Amino acid sequence: MSERQTKYVFFTGGVASSLGKGLTASSLGRLLKCRGLKVTMCKLDPYINVDPGTMNPFEHGEVFVTEDGGETDLDLGHYERFIDENLHKGSNATTGRIYSSVIAKERRGDYLGKTVQVIPHITDEIKNHIHKLGQTGVDVVIVEIGGTVGDIEILPFIEAIRQFRRDVGRANVAYVHLTLVPYLRPSGEQKTKPTQHSVTDLRSQGIQPDVIVCRSDRMISEDLKRKISLLCDVPMQAVVSCVDADNIYQIPLVLHEEGLDTYLLDILEINANDHPIDLSRWEHLVAQVAAAVRPVRIGIIGKYVDLPDAYLSVVESLRHAGFHHGAKVEIEWVQAATVPDLLERDGLRSFDGLVIPGGFGERGVEGKIAAARFAREHDLPLLGLCLGLQVMIIEVARSLAGMDDANSREFAATTRHPVVDLMDEQVDVSDKGGTMRLGSYDARLLPDSQVARAYGDVVVSERHRHRYEVNPRFRERLEEAGLVCSGVSPDGRLVEFIELPGHPFWVGTQAHPEFKSRPDQPHPLFRELVGAALSRAEGRDPHLIDIGAVG
Ligand code: GLN
Repeated sequence: MSERQTKYVFFTGGVASSLGKGLTASSLGRLLKCRGLKVTMCKLDPYINVDPGTMNPFEHGEVFVTEDGGETDLDLGHYERFIDENLHKGSNATTGRIYSSVIAKERRGDYLGKTVQVIPHITDEIKNHIHKLGQTGVDVVIVEIGGTVGDIEILPFIEAIRQFRRDVGRANVAYVHLTLVPYLRPSGEQKTKPTQHSVTDLRSQGIQPDVIVCRSDRMISEDLKRKISLLCDVPMQAVVSCVDADNIYQIPLVLHEEGLDTYLLDILEINANDHPIDLSRWEHLVAQVAAAVRPVRIGIIGKYVDLPDAYLSVVESLRHAGFHHGAKVEIEWVQAATVPDLLERDGLRSFDGLVIPGGFGERGVEGKIAAARFAREHDLPLLGLCLGLQVMIIEVARSLAGMDDANSREFAATTRHPVVDLMDEQVDVSDKGGTMRLGSYDARLLPDSQVARAYGDVVVSERHRHRYEVNPRFRERLEEAGLVCSGVSPDGRLVEFIELPGHPFWVGTQAHPEFKSRPDQPHPLFRELVGAALSRAEGRDPHLIDIGAVG
């Protein structure tokens, strides 16, 4: 833009949760980027936890880790994957974080003896948070408000974004409201009433939406759009139909087709002619997704398998790798605790590859160790992530290095062979917030190792979120048993990557590479895992896959 004036788009949701507000916001972000605009995104969550780091994945799904070690909402994963920008701690704030900071200021005496109140102190804190994002040299800040309009705890956020438009000027803010237009089978009709109610609710809190995005399982007819336009007091073009898509990466194209980005530019007084859209890269991706048909079965051996959102980035990373290979990755969830039973019935044989993802706590760990062993003994490609690497270490220690009782200190406080342990500086784990190794760390890779060839580099950086490490005391014994520590921290102390020579792909990393995969740039480790699994699925000798040559 000629003169820099940051624009803000606020996304609210109505009627029901889980309508895909994060994906819709991310898709808009992608469209604006395709117009050459600089975009950042933020999620404001009305719950009281300071961050989702302490929440059970069953409650909240995956904790997405940013480069700077922020433990954030899983929607940030969608944001990063869609807008292809690294976000940061400030890209997610909760009621808990906002209140903590207001309370800290109150204790410091910053409020000069005033009564500290939701309005103006909490709302100001929220607005300041948003302003800071606007001062980072971007053209557009997209802010998603978590929860649903009508919730009690969302009120301070709605009030803050209402005031925000007054503060920065009408043309610099747009409000997008996402609702549900259900189809009622008995009457064969789509219903607008829930949308009307939800918009009425929003208006009673002082916000007139500029755009209403209607989620539905079928297109919204012109007649229905006219009705919503009339009753919710928005122009026809402001009613956007967002039908369920075959895959999430189609959503930007669906929304562009409906004119969402063009209309919003108009509202924000950004000249669309100065920012013509170039969708070619994204269209190429969508074509790649459609062409991904070679079947490959990957088992995820996890603990939270009843809520697949707990492993959202792992699933997306596998899909991205599939797009690259033209493969349709069929994901099969395996409850870790059931692995020993499954093994008795040969139950892992039908997989072409396995992932053992991260996790905390003892439940299912023996099953994961058994899966790692099965993969090792049967040349089954396996990628271990964080806890996944730790169980692979335990498996090598027990099966190849003669340490029968080897374990992680996390699960066996008194084992004689704590092959995975806390490092000296990490002994206090009483405070569950922020005591982990979090965020990006570099690793040095062993030249010509499988991982170095996969990355095409010998210095890499990955995001971390864990307390325990491979115990340096046992490293030599593990290496003598055949394990290759193919990546270590720059000071050589911490093991970051492991592999087994002679195995098609038995690779573990202490990090969480799943947070860095992008739909059109699959992460090298997932790419190689899926490549090796495909070789197996299609009956080629998996030993012969030429790692590094793919792509
Ligand atoms: N529980 C393990 C640790 O704290 C692994 C954590 C994880 O997988 N993210 O080190």
